[in-house]
Amino acid sequence: MTVPRNPVGDAKEVLDMYWADSGGDLRLPVDPVKIARQMGAAVYLSDLAPGVSGQLEADDWGQTILLSPDNGPNRQRFTCAHEIGHLVDRGKRGGPAVFIDYRDGRAAQGTDSAEIYANQFAAELLMPADHVRRLAREGWTTQQMATRFGVSQAAMGIRRDNLRCA
Ligand SMILES: [Zn+2]
Repeated sequence: MTVPRNPVGDAKEVLDMYWADSGGDLRLPVDPVKIARQMGAAVYLSDLAPGVSGQLEADDWGQTILLSPDNGPNRQRFTCAHEIGHLVDRGKRGGPAVFIDYRDGRAAQGTDSAEIYANQFAAELLMPADHVRRLAREGWTTQQMATRFGVSQAAMGIRRDNLRCA
Protein backbone atom coordinates (compact mmCIF):
# COMPACT_ATOMS: atom_id res chain seq x y z
CA MET A 1 0.00 0.00 0.00
CA THR A 2 1.32 3.41 -0.91
CA VAL A 3 1.44 6.03 1.78
CA PRO A 4 0.37 9.39 0.36
CA ARG A 5 3.11 12.00 0.42
CA ASN A 6 2.64 15.19 2.39
CA PRO A 7 5.66 17.41 1.71
CA VAL A 8 4.24 20.51 3.42
CA GLY A 9 3.25 18.63 6.56
CA ASP A 10 6.58 16.81 6.64
CA ALA A 11 8.56 20.06 6.30
CA LYS A 12 6.53 21.64 9.11
CA GLU A 13 7.26 18.63 11.28
CA VAL A 14 10.99 18.95 10.62
CA LEU A 15 10.92 22.69 11.37
CA ASP A 16 9.03 22.08 14.61
CA MET A 17 11.43 19.37 15.71
CA TYR A 18 14.75 20.80 14.62
CA TRP A 19 14.43 24.52 14.09
CA ALA A 20 11.65 26.19 16.09
CA ASP A 21 12.55 27.74 19.43
CA SER A 22 10.79 26.67 22.62
CA GLY A 23 7.97 29.10 21.85
CA GLY A 24 7.44 27.57 18.43
CA ASP A 25 8.92 30.54 16.55
CA LEU A 26 11.22 30.07 13.59
CA ARG A 27 14.53 31.85 13.26
CA LEU A 28 14.95 33.13 9.72
CA PRO A 29 16.66 32.36 7.52
CA VAL A 30 16.27 28.65 8.13
CA ASP A 31 19.62 26.86 7.93
CA PRO A 32 19.11 23.51 6.20
CA VAL A 33 22.71 22.42 6.81
CA LYS A 34 22.24 22.73 10.57
CA ILE A 35 18.90 20.94 10.35
CA ALA A 36 20.38 18.08 8.31
CA ARG A 37 23.20 17.69 10.84
CA GLN A 38 20.77 17.70 13.74
CA MET A 39 18.88 14.96 11.93
CA GLY A 40 22.05 12.92 11.98
CA ALA A 41 23.14 13.41 8.37
CA ALA A 42 26.64 14.44 7.41
CA VAL A 43 26.82 17.43 5.06
CA TYR A 44 29.87 18.22 2.93
CA LEU A 45 30.85 20.42 0.07
CA SER A 46 32.26 18.07 -2.53
CA ASP A 47 33.35 18.13 -6.14
CA LEU A 48 30.53 16.31 -7.85
CA ALA A 49 30.13 15.17 -11.43
CA PRO A 50 29.65 17.97 -13.97
CA GLY A 51 26.19 19.53 -13.70
CA VAL A 52 25.35 17.85 -10.40
CA SER A 53 24.28 20.28 -7.68
CA GLY A 54 23.77 17.80 -4.86
CA GLN A 55 23.27 14.23 -3.84
CA LEU A 56 22.06 12.14 -0.95
CA GLU A 57 23.76 8.87 -0.15
CA ALA A 58 22.20 6.58 2.39
CA ASP A 59 23.40 3.29 3.76
CA ASP A 60 23.01 1.25 6.91
CA TRP A 61 25.42 3.49 8.77
CA GLY A 62 23.91 6.84 7.99
CA GLN A 63 23.16 9.50 5.44
CA THR A 64 25.47 11.91 3.68
CA ILE A 65 24.44 15.02 1.76
CA LEU A 66 26.98 16.32 -0.73
CA LEU A 67 26.67 19.83 -2.14
CA SER A 68 28.55 21.27 -5.09
CA PRO A 69 30.73 24.28 -4.22
CA ASP A 70 30.18 25.47 -7.82
CA ASN A 71 26.77 26.80 -6.79
CA GLY A 72 26.18 30.00 -4.85
CA PRO A 73 25.06 29.91 -1.21
CA ASN A 74 21.35 30.29 -1.97
CA ARG A 75 21.45 27.43 -4.42
CA GLN A 76 23.39 25.29 -1.96
CA ARG A 77 20.77 25.97 0.68
CA PHE A 78 17.94 25.00 -1.64
CA THR A 79 19.76 21.85 -2.74
CA CYS A 80 20.44 20.89 0.87
CA ALA A 81 16.76 21.37 1.74
CA HIS A 82 15.82 19.27 -1.32
CA GLU A 83 18.14 16.47 -0.18
CA ILE A 84 16.62 16.60 3.33
CA GLY A 85 13.32 16.06 1.55
CA HIS A 86 14.67 12.88 -0.04
CA LEU A 87 15.98 11.81 3.35
CA VAL A 88 12.61 12.28 5.05
CA ASP A 89 10.74 10.66 2.17
CA ARG A 90 13.13 7.71 2.24
CA GLY A 91 12.65 7.38 5.99
CA LYS A 92 8.88 7.16 5.53
CA ARG A 93 8.56 5.20 2.33
CA GLY A 94 11.93 3.76 1.46
CA GLY A 95 13.64 4.56 -1.80
CA PRO A 96 16.94 4.29 -3.60
CA ALA A 97 20.17 4.57 -1.63
CA VAL A 98 21.51 7.37 -3.80
CA PHE A 99 19.77 10.45 -5.17
CA ILE A 100 21.67 12.58 -7.67
CA ASP A 101 20.27 16.00 -8.49
CA TYR A 102 21.38 18.01 -11.47
CA ARG A 103 21.42 21.78 -11.66
CA ASP A 104 18.90 21.76 -14.50
CA GLY A 105 16.40 19.89 -12.33
CA ARG A 106 17.07 16.47 -13.76
CA ALA A 107 17.52 13.69 -11.26
CA ALA A 108 19.37 10.52 -12.13
CA GLN A 109 17.70 8.14 -9.70
CA GLY A 110 14.52 9.58 -8.27
CA THR A 111 11.11 9.24 -9.80
CA ASP A 112 9.26 12.39 -10.84
CA SER A 113 6.97 12.16 -7.84
CA ALA A 114 9.96 11.86 -5.48
CA GLU A 115 11.46 14.98 -7.07
CA ILE A 116 8.22 16.94 -6.86
CA TYR A 117 7.96 15.94 -3.22
CA ALA A 118 11.54 17.05 -2.50
CA ASN A 119 11.02 20.41 -4.22
CA GLN A 120 7.78 21.12 -2.38
CA PHE A 121 9.39 20.04 0.88
CA ALA A 122 12.37 22.37 0.26
CA ALA A 123 10.11 25.33 -0.57
CA GLU A 124 8.17 24.92 2.67
CA LEU A 125 11.32 24.32 4.73
CA LEU A 126 13.08 27.48 3.51
CA MET A 127 10.02 29.66 2.85
CA PRO A 128 7.35 28.52 5.33
CA ALA A 129 3.96 29.50 3.94
CA ASP A 130 2.70 31.16 7.13
CA HIS A 131 5.72 33.44 7.24
CA VAL A 132 5.61 34.28 3.54
CA ARG A 133 1.94 35.22 3.83
CA ARG A 134 2.55 37.33 6.93
CA LEU A 135 5.43 39.28 5.37
CA ALA A 136 3.41 39.74 2.18
CA ARG A 137 0.57 41.21 4.23
CA GLU A 138 3.08 43.52 5.90
CA GLY A 139 4.08 44.81 2.47
CA TRP A 140 7.53 43.29 2.09
CA THR A 141 8.92 43.31 -1.44
CA THR A 142 10.06 40.07 -3.07
CA GLN A 143 13.67 41.28 -2.81
CA GLN A 144 13.35 41.97 0.92
CA MET A 145 11.70 38.61 1.46
CA ALA A 146 14.37 36.80 -0.59
CA THR A 147 17.03 38.24 1.71
CA ARG A 148 15.03 37.33 4.81
CA PHE A 149 14.52 33.73 3.75
CA GLY A 150 17.97 33.33 2.19
CA VAL A 151 16.73 32.35 -1.26
CA SER A 152 17.09 33.78 -4.76
CA GLN A 153 14.65 36.43 -5.91
CA ALA A 154 13.48 34.03 -8.61
CA ALA A 155 12.68 31.33 -6.05
CA MET A 156 10.94 33.88 -3.83
CA GLY A 157 8.83 35.16 -6.72
CA ILE A 158 7.74 31.64 -7.64
CA ARG A 159 6.89 30.90 -4.00
CA ARG A 160 4.72 34.02 -3.74
CA ASP A 161 2.95 33.11 -6.97
CA ASN A 162 2.33 29.57 -5.78
CA LEU A 163 0.95 30.83 -2.46
CA ARG A 164 -1.14 33.42 -4.30
CA CYS A 165 0.40 36.27 -2.38
CA ALA A 166 2.41 37.95 -5.14
ZN1 LIG B 1 16.08 15.21 -6.01
